[in-house]
Amino acid sequence: MIPKNHPRYESLILREKIKKAHKEGYLAESGMIAHGRGEAFDYLLGEKTIETAYKSIEVGVACLLLAKKSVISVNGNNTALAIENIIELANITNSKIEINLFYRTAKRVSIIKDLFKKYGYYNILGTDDEKLKYINSIDSPRATASEKGIYSADVVLVSLEDGDRTEILTKSGKKVIAIDLNPLSRTAQTADITIVDNIVRAIPLMIDLAKKYKLKSDDCLKNLVNDFSNEDNLKSSLKSIEIKE
Ligand code: ATP
Ligand code: MG
Repeated sequence: MIPKNHPRYESLILREKIKKAHKEGYLAESGMIAHGRGEAFDYLLGEKTIETAYKSIEVGVACLLLAKKSVISVNGNNTALAIENIIELANITNSKIEINLFYRTAKRVSIIKDLFKKYGYYNILGTDDEKLKYINSIDSPRATASEKGIYSADVVLVSLEDGDRTEILTKSGKKVIAIDLNPLSRTAQTADITIVDNIVRAIPLMIDLAKKYKLKSDDCLKNLVNDFSNEDNLKSSLKSIEIKE
């Protein structure tokens, strides 16, 4: 039991969730390491949502609501930390959900599919290996996607994503929204809209905002997206990482 007054309480609870997911067999060992990399950046950000993240959350939500076909990409890490919020965001923004694993095994895919079912979500995509297609015919496991989902999507939301895959997605003309605690990762640098925040804080904020922004006109949402510079936002995000003595 972690005592509630422990200074790292929230962070330790997340660690427990990651450890449990690994024990249950749907999160690869390297997923635990990826979590650790995120923790370090979160520490430096003060474990709070920074101003620039609020901005990119706003733009990311606008982009999801404007999409013809948006898909939320899931893996072991984001399933372990945010499954219920991911389902809620998908429902509110009319997005599909697709499994995409860096270390893909039939067992991990099946456990994640069943977990989503347990939380009431039955139509998860990307489960059938045979039916996966290769984006831009790139012969790499990083380029696979389901035809009904990411393959034909115009907007994709990724988190804890690999840089090579993010690049393939953006090069294929899709708009990529990335939630990534490291503003210097290749994913953060290549996405169209980067939210430098922890998924456990960012996704609930996206849900709240999506409820409000659903009432806004397309023109208003388009203005938000058009006025945004990811490059400038990332530069400002970097300034939030201050090493105080
Ligand atoms: P890239 O391949 O994009 O260059 P990387 O190889 O440096 O990234 P990975 O370990 O592949 O990083 O992916 C994990 C990424 O997810 C890291 O950038 C890490 O900061 C981020 N991350 C980890 N946990 C979280 C979290 N809870 N919320 C948001 N981002 C996270
Ligand atoms: Mg990587």
